[in-house]
Amino acid sequence: MPNIILLSGDGIGPEIMAEAGRVLNRVNEQHALGISTEQCLIGGAAIDATGEPLPDETLTKSKDADAVLFGAVGGPKWDSLPMHKRPEKGLLKIRAGMDLFANLRPALLYPELASASTLREEVVSGLDLLIVRELIGGIYFGEPRGIEGEPGQRVGYNTDRYSEPEIERIGRIAFDAAMARDKKLCSVDKANVLEVTVLWREVMERLSQEYPDVELWHMYVDNAAMQLVRAPKQFDVMVTGNLFGDILSDAAAMLTGSIGMLPSASLNSQKQGLYEPCHGSAPDIAGQDLANPLATILSVSMMLLHSLNAPKAAQAIEDAVKSVLASGLRTKDIATGASGEQIVGCRAMGEAVLKALT
Ligand code: NAD
Repeated sequence: MPNIILLSGDGIGPEIMAEAGRVLNRVNEQHALGISTEQCLIGGAAIDATGEPLPDETLTKSKDADAVLFGAVGGPKWDSLPMHKRPEKGLLKIRAGMDLFANLRPALLYPELASASTLREEVVSGLDLLIVRELIGGIYFGEPRGIEGEPGQRVGYNTDRYSEPEIERIGRIAFDAAMARDKKLCSVDKANVLEVTVLWREVMERLSQEYPDVELWHMYVDNAAMQLVRAPKQFDVMVTGNLFGDILSDAAAMLTGSIGMLPSASLNSQKQGLYEPCHGSAPDIAGQDLANPLATILSVSMMLLHSLNAPKAAQAIEDAVKSVLASGLRTKDIATGASGEQIVGCRAMGEAVLKALT
């Protein structure tokens, strides 16, 4: 029986998770998935209760579960704590503890929201791309690292390193994802300057022999950044390392107009995953029924697809979200002022998705 850990966290976390939880319960019944869920603590809420941003119990239960659904962490209340005690550390620790090396971030523009993008409608309408980012290696984790030397002469340094097995495992996730989509994979590197990405490119080429149906091509990261805002629809799946992926996935997110719409998945080699919206805890609107729950609801859909092998239930959620948007309902963050729009709160948006599911 699949077991899901729910981590609401802080700020708008509990509000968006309440709606996502209701959607999960509904598809669980409708598709007889036999899923059981359990709430655990993380972030500021965990600090308040236990003194730790990621209590041992939460990590142990998450490692034993089939998947984790996560809201958001952080807020001004905990901003003055030392770095290692801050709520955000809870998220970094659970990613590392579960060995979640693959971050999947779709950027999908719903036709109804095309005018919410900062780019011209014809550039982004129909956009549907997936960024696959390596999440627990590269320069963010490489050793040696540090700041050394005498004041005035100090040197700061980090190390960008990837081993062949690390590149291969993220490459496989990306090729598999491309196989399930339009079979086009763009690998992003800086192989004209960085040896670590020369190796990256070699391994991607080698892997492509195993996926003859996927068209693989390579792009330098500076060009990729430019192409993402010039002609983003040329991409189907992009795969890249931790640093480049961090930057490119945020740029891709903004193509779609609102961060409140974007789900994400972080997977390990057993396809166990942590699923979360791309946004943070939005303390400025917390507790006011203003948050958009759709990114978290769409994260449930990704969870059903990637960790629970329930593609029909996943599709049902996506269809329900599409029909709610088509009916004109909008939370404030995705309102464009177009006629026919009706502004609703977090709770009513969740309710509408539930209704569309029936
Ligand atoms: P944020 O994503 O929380 O908010 C940025 C802006 O987007 C705000 O104006 C907010 O109101 C709006 N917004 C975000 N999500 C929304 C939603 N679902 N519906 C409507 N509007 C939404 O980023 P921030 O303000 O830089 O950070 C706030 C806190 O969140 C900080 O403590 C930060 O460390 C934390 N944070 C957590 C995560 C995470 O848990 N994964 C990620 C980023 C930031």
